[in-house]
Order: sequence, then structure tokens, then C-alpha cells
Amino acid sequence: MEDPLKQQFLIDLNKIDSLQALLNTKAKYIGKKGILTEKIKILGQLPQEERKAQGKILNELKNFIEEQIKNKESELKQNQIRESLTRDYIDITFPGKDYYFGGSHPVNKTLLEIIDIFSELGFTIEEGPEVELDYYNFEALNIPKNHPARDMQDTFYVNEDVVLRTHTSPVQVRVMEKKKPPLRFISPGKVYRCDSDVTHTPMFHQVEGLMVDEEVSFSHLKGMLIYFLQRFFGKKIPVRFRPSFFPFTEPSTEIDIGCIICGAKGCRVCKGTGWLEVLGAGMVHPNVFKFAGYPDRKYTGFAFGMGVERLTMLKYGIDDIRLFFDNDIRFLRQF
Ligand SMILES: [Zn+2]
Repeated sequence: MEDPLKQQFLIDLNKIDSLQALLNTKAKYIGKKGILTEKIKILGQLPQEERKAQGKILNELKNFIEEQIKNKESELKQNQIRESLTRDYIDITFPGKDYYFGGSHPVNKTLLEIIDIFSELGFTIEEGPEVELDYYNFEALNIPKNHPARDMQDTFYVNEDVVLRTHTSPVQVRVMEKKKPPLRFISPGKVYRCDSDVTHTPMFHQVEGLMVDEEVSFSHLKGMLIYFLQRFFGKKIPVRFRPSFFPFTEPSTEIDIGCIICGAKGCRVCKGTGWLEVLGAGMVHPNVFKFAGYPDRKYTGFAFGMGVERLTMLKYGIDDIRLFFDNDIRFLRQF
């Protein structure tokens, strides 16, 4: 007659469908507190004859269970491998998925191009805060209290003493306060003005540049900026300098290039003049050096500033600045 314990085990074994269930069954029979283990433990209390016979049966049963468990385990593992091979099957003849590659924003492309050109000329990069003290944004740049640039219509005021910077020029002063000449750096970044139409957005990008040393002259300014513009727009582009006014430079100049839309013949973009304004520049005003704490008349330098969106619009013939910020993928894909 079959041992009822063995029969019970075989029924349990048959129901096992996972490795976890197998472990549970193993524990149930031959674990530390398993049914069979308990029986073996109490063998010692039996009379000698009976103990001998019973011991043999229980030992055989134990060996049988261990073997069955081992077989079941390898069977379950085989099943698992087979299943995962079926589930994770890769059909290498199936067409691949399309990838969509991102791209640089045109404004960012221009910014990187400007940085590249000036890096080659030995300019480093300096940055300053976008939320700026009135002092750095205006006062220390020789912009007096009654200057139109301070008008509430142009400037975002945070409070009486704090503004969103309206240009990248405050970085000039911040750097000069900390470093002594020779200085040669550009300062790219976001600026803010309360203005919005086809050529203005409340936030746009500028690149400021400053070079200060003993005996830096206007001809250095001309040479550097003509070189930059011809690298950026093309070797043959005509460049001209017009007298202008900025509070923080003296003399000041605005720089035009021959209209690249009409080839300097006159069109809507250049308003019939054949010229496009692209840069503002000048020799650093002595008052700015004074605010920076530099000794009187020891240094000279030039500064320049440009609008990154404007340069991008001219280079690629874009007529509405707002397109840059619409995030229309059809527009952005063209670059
Ligand atoms: Zn034109």
C-alpha cells in the first residue's frame, strides 16, 4: 500500500505551476518544520525494531521527495526560458521605427556662431544676472535719471531699485569691478523690454562685447567688427560706420551692412536705403571707467552690442521676430 504522505505529496507536486509554489511545497514536507521532518524527529521515541523499519521508509520517502522537487525545478526553469524566448522574440525582418531628431533653435545657432567667431579672436565669455540692480543697468553706465531708456514704457521694474535688465551692458561694469585690464570678453544673454510687434519681443537676446587695455583705439574696434560681420554675413558684405549716441560710449557709432535682401539696391526691409543697421558700438565713456573704479585716463576700450534675433532674421530672411517663439515645428525644421 502506498504511503498516504507520499500520495499527498504527489498531488501537491502535480499542482505546482511556479518556482514559488515549488519552494512552498518543499518547505511543507522537508523544510525545518515540514511534515516529514517532524516525523523523522520523533523516530527516537519509538522502540528499536519499529524505529529501524520506520526510519528506512521515511528516509526513502525523503530521498524521493528531494528528487521530485529537483526534477520539477529544472522543468519549471526550462518552461520559463521557453516562454521568454517566445515572448521576447525579435523579428529582424520587421521595418525599424522612425526617429525624430531635434535641432538647434535658429537663435541658438546664431548665438553659437557669434561665440565661435569671437572666441577665435581671443574673447572669453562672461555672464551676469537677468534680474539686475538699477545701478548696474543704468547708473553705472552713465545713463542719467532723466534718460528716455529709463521710461516705464521700456523697462520692466521689479521695484524702485531692481529691473529686468534692458541690455547686456551691465555685465561690463560687473566684470570691470572685479577684474583689471587687459579685458577682452563677450557677454551673451537674455534681455527684457516692454515692447511687442513684428520686430520686437518682450524678451530677446543680446551679445555685448568689451575690450579694455592701454591704448585700445577706434581702429581696433573697426577692425574687429568688420572682421566679425564679414565672417558672419559673407566676405564681400559692405560695412559702414555712422556717428551715433549711447550714454556709455564716446564717441559712439552705429554699424550698417549693405542690405543682404536686395543686394544694397533698396527694398522694404532696408526702407529703400540699401543699408541695414546691425550693431551699436563706441569707445568706453570715461565715466564708466570711473564707476568701475579704474584710474583716470590709464585705460581705453571699446564696447559693442548686437541683437541676436535681428542678426538671425537678416541672415535667414525672416520677417517676423515672433516666429522664433511660436515653437512651430514647421518653422524650426527649416534650419
Ligand atoms: Zn534692401
